[in-house]
Amino acid sequence: MNAPVTTARDPRYDILFEPVKLGPKVTKNRFYQVPHCNGLGYRDPTAAAVMRGIKAEGGWGVVCTEQVEFHHTSEITPFIELRLWDERDIPVLARMAEHIHAHDALAGVELAYNGMNGPNLYSREVPMGPSHLPVMTFTYDPVQSRRMDLEDIRNLRRWHQTAVRRAKTAGFDIIYVYAAHTFGFLHHFLSRRFNDRTDEYGGSIKNRVRLLKEVIEDSLEAAGGDCAIPVRISVDELLGEAGLHKDEVEEMIGEIADLPDFWDLTLSGWDNDSRTSRFAEEGHEEPFISGIKKLTGKPVVGVGRYTSVDRMVSLVKKGILDLIGCARPSIADPFLPAKVNEGRIEDIRECIGCNICVSGDLTMSPIRCTQNPTMAEEWRRGWHPEKVRPARSQEPVLIVGAGPAGLEAATVLGKRGYPVTLAEAGTVLGGRVVRESRLPGLAAWIRVRDYRQGQLTKLPNVEIYFDSKLTADDVLGFGFPRVLIATGATWRRDGIGHQHTTVLPPLERGGDILTPDDIMDGCLPNGRTVIVWDDDHYYMGSVVAEKLATEGYVVHYVTPAPEAATWTRATMEQTFIQRRMLEAGIRITVARTLAAYGNREATLRCIYTGREETCPADSLVLVTARLPNAGLADELRTSKSIWLSKGLRDVQVIADALAPATIAHATYAGRKYAEELDAPIASDEVPPFLREITQLA
Ligand code: ADP
Ligand code: SF4
Repeated sequence: MNAPVTTARDPRYDILFEPVKLGPKVTKNRFYQVPHCNGLGYRDPTAAAVMRGIKAEGGWGVVCTEQVEFHHTSEITPFIELRLWDERDIPVLARMAEHIHAHDALAGVELAYNGMNGPNLYSREVPMGPSHLPVMTFTYDPVQSRRMDLEDIRNLRRWHQTAVRRAKTAGFDIIYVYAAHTFGFLHHFLSRRFNDRTDEYGGSIKNRVRLLKEVIEDSLEAAGGDCAIPVRISVDELLGEAGLHKDEVEEMIGEIADLPDFWDLTLSGWDNDSRTSRFAEEGHEEPFISGIKKLTGKPVVGVGRYTSVDRMVSLVKKGILDLIGCARPSIADPFLPAKVNEGRIEDIRECIGCNICVSGDLTMSPIRCTQNPTMAEEWRRGWHPEKVRPARSQEPVLIVGAGPAGLEAATVLGKRGYPVTLAEAGTVLGGRVVRESRLPGLAAWIRVRDYRQGQLTKLPNVEIYFDSKLTADDVLGFGFPRVLIATGATWRRDGIGHQHTTVLPPLERGGDILTPDDIMDGCLPNGRTVIVWDDDHYYMGSVVAEKLATEGYVVHYVTPAPEAATWTRATMEQTFIQRRMLEAGIRITVARTLAAYGNREATLRCIYTGREETCPADSLVLVTARLPNAGLADELRTSKSIWLSKGLRDVQVIADALAPATIAHATYAGRKYAEELDAPIASDEVPPFLREITQLA
């Protein structure tokens, strides 16, 4: 059952649906999906093409690719991007352009030559850039880039021009000259940090802009007036005088103001541009991009994790942007423009700014999204962010637990048309996101609940019961044929985690020991000095430490990892987290394991030398691992012999109640259950999803 579409656009939003001329092309509206990486790339090209096509279906006027490596002398293995190394790569790109064109959107391609960002682990070519410098990777690769000579520069210009011709053959309307995010040769030539040249390509602003200007001219020539040629540039590196900064970049833009067909503005590096909601508000780029439009007669696009439609309108009205650039808002809701157009603002699935999407690219795995579990599953599992298959039966489903998993399952089953009963022990919907969104910096996470709560109010076939902590007897007494258990998980109190996989004996000495659940329940440590032992390594340890520091505790954060919250490298938050903790006065001790605790002190042991030290700790907060709330599932399992007599056929346990993981795992698990209910039973001997197999040479 798919919601009927009504067209009732609020006239205040008409301005967002005005066409904008982009060189020789015209976009039908101002909704612009800027390039974004996704971990699909050359390994999963059809999945990537279908994902982009669905964005076009959702109403984006422009839909762009991710980085497309255009020459084998610069590639960023192990990261998985698209490639346009030779003519044989054209069909992959063409498939993407076709999917985008099928819904009347313009297709954009971001040509990238990473230069000194790519160690060339696959091609084993020698990286090159403006200067002799170590390659700039996340992993400090022991590889240097060599300084390009004038012949290298001529070659690179030729390769870029060839790539523009190939991209045009593939059917793209917009072909980027990419000079942003510290990610490519053009950015490196612009920035004094990377460019120490004394020839005509170094030194003065005019000289540093020279190569960018030449590449734009080459691209315009190769495009032959058939494709728009924008420039993507970083307005600031947020390094003060040491890096590119707004004044300097404004002067650079002034040099070539009307040469490209339009401008796409970002901050640099990518972590500054795509900050999480914990570290930046919606539109945090605005002070940096304001005023750029005055320097050029050409349209300007910029990003800011915009999900507020009123904010988008004001950006256009104030003359800051012509096009609203979105990456994450388009991932969380590929149908955002269509919903604005149809007057369905309340149906927008707002991005929560968690950067789980980024973690796909940074772990070389297909993109996933906390809010939109269909992301990257459009082709391989046939899921659609808005359309669902009608119910195949009217057999009711009882869902126990209204956290992200239970809510997603109830919403999708409800939309499919199943009779659903959702039972929740507490008095509100949302489970862990309600509790976690009250922690410092995580307020936007409540949107996981809010979107689904809003959808459920429109589904009369979903009944919700609060204050209903169900037992196995309750469940058996109700007589539902199918039960879904999504009862969540509880933080462990025994210290078991990544480092200690058996119970921590030192804890037997007792003391004031708390878990994140205690803190979220409002129970605070008794003494003044607190050790937060983080063996979880995602956000929770740092957030708890931050909360306690704000409450006035003397906080000592201890982890066996080499840095605070180390997994948040995958969400590009690690440096922001460690900085905030240090600024809050939190003492950070790394590479130590917790050897003993009691009598108001902890013994820490160096993980390398085994040397021990003691530290004061009136209280200890264990942020380690969680255990499934499996009581109900276990009870039901033991009474399996009487299920049929009670009318019960099937019990499934999902998400945190099965194996605790991220909120994105929970919404995905809820979606999967709802998508697969009553689907034909497939063989478990083959993968239940489509994939592309490398063609043998
Ligand atoms: P997940 O992330 O897997 O969705 P959460 O912990 O966020 O899990 O949510 C689980 C929800 O289940 C919580 O709101 C909790 O109150 C509820 N719950 C737990 N046990 C029961 C039960 N026996 N009956 C009804 N609701 C329950
Ligand atoms: Fe937004 Fe998080 Fe989804 Fe990324 S994963 S689009 S940040 S909700």
